[in-house]
Amino acid sequence: MSKHIKLYIPGPVEVSPATYEAMCQPMIGHRGKGFQDLYAEIQPMLRQLFGTRQQVFLSTSSAWGVMEGSIRNLVKKKVLNCCNGAFSDKWLDVSRRCGKEAEAYQVEWGRPILADEVDKRLATGEFDAVTFIHNETSTGVLSPIAEIAALKRKYPDVMFITDSVSGFTTVPVSFDELGLDVLLTGSQKAFALPPGLALFTASEAAMERAAGIHDRGYYFDFLEFRSNGEKNMTPSTPCISLIYGLRHQLQQMLAEGLDNRYARHARLNGMVHDWVRRNGFEFFAPEGYRSKSLTCVANNRNIDVAAFIGLLKSNHSLIIDGGYGKLKGRTFRISNMGDETDASISAVIAALDDSLAKL
Ligand SMILES: *Cc1c(COP(=O)(O)O)cnc(C)c1O
Repeated sequence: MSKHIKLYIPGPVEVSPATYEAMCQPMIGHRGKGFQDLYAEIQPMLRQLFGTRQQVFLSTSSAWGVMEGSIRNLVKKKVLNCCNGAFSDKWLDVSRRCGKEAEAYQVEWGRPILADEVDKRLATGEFDAVTFIHNETSTGVLSPIAEIAALKRKYPDVMFITDSVSGFTTVPVSFDELGLDVLLTGSQKAFALPPGLALFTASEAAMERAAGIHDRGYYFDFLEFRSNGEKNMTPSTPCISLIYGLRHQLQQMLAEGLDNRYARHARLNGMVHDWVRRNGFEFFAPEGYRSKSLTCVANNRNIDVAAFIGLLKSNHSLIIDGGYGKLKGRTFRISNMGDETDASISAVIAALDDSLAKL
């Protein structure tokens, strides 16, 4: 086995030995009762987590599969892609690559998506779908999901498609209460599972929209997910080992209690924030819009980020991220999501202090 370098990059994150162990079940057939029982067992836990009465679907893909799938299933006329970072900007590109008419509501990287601005654009009547990213992982910005989702009441015919890949399970997101049309996430962020599984739910209205669109493809066809889900199955052979891991993580989350889980993420994130302030760094995201799952630190001290990460890796066997795309070197990101504890984040902070002093 290769040396264990602990991951404090914002995905993939650390996977616990207990999760790996839970995944080491003998393989089963995906059309047999064993799998159907597994699927049925996790549905109530997933519905509780998503805050929905709808089915929660398991897609054997990374989150991008469902992000692309949402465009293919739900955009008939034109989609408004809210762009404020690398993942949301890419979604605009993906919409166009799917052959859809798409327009950006472009915000400077580091700024949040604001409901008033979304409202102005939807008021044109041009759009029948909108995408936005709850927690922009590239910039550490948490956008006001409740305010944006509240627009659904004003624009009931617009599909509200939400990526909460790196926000989900770190702050409360209740699908039915928010009235969203799609909520999607992935396994390798706060779920603290290996990559390869995306999870999503979709509204009745989304299923109706999909039924009227005829080039949905197959692999990400929402109606395939629904009809297979009714039989406790997936459209194609799923990543069964990961689903065993998911069952374990769901049990852990519910045993901890969701409110405790959200409080833990806020507390650990606060510990990282304290380190940032104590060392004279600034936050890339403005106050009030900062992620609870990661911290995007502005490199206002102009440290050598690559050397800093090198020291963390060689002396402490852990890595953080050196900045996404055009923010490389200008920012660095520290994740606190998943199974982290006060002790593990304290150890990261001690490592950050030690490495900073050695620069
Ligand atoms: C990680 C991430 C994605 C992409 O996930 P993949 O699993 O690489 O497809 C999309 N959106 C956000 C906000 C992310 O953090």
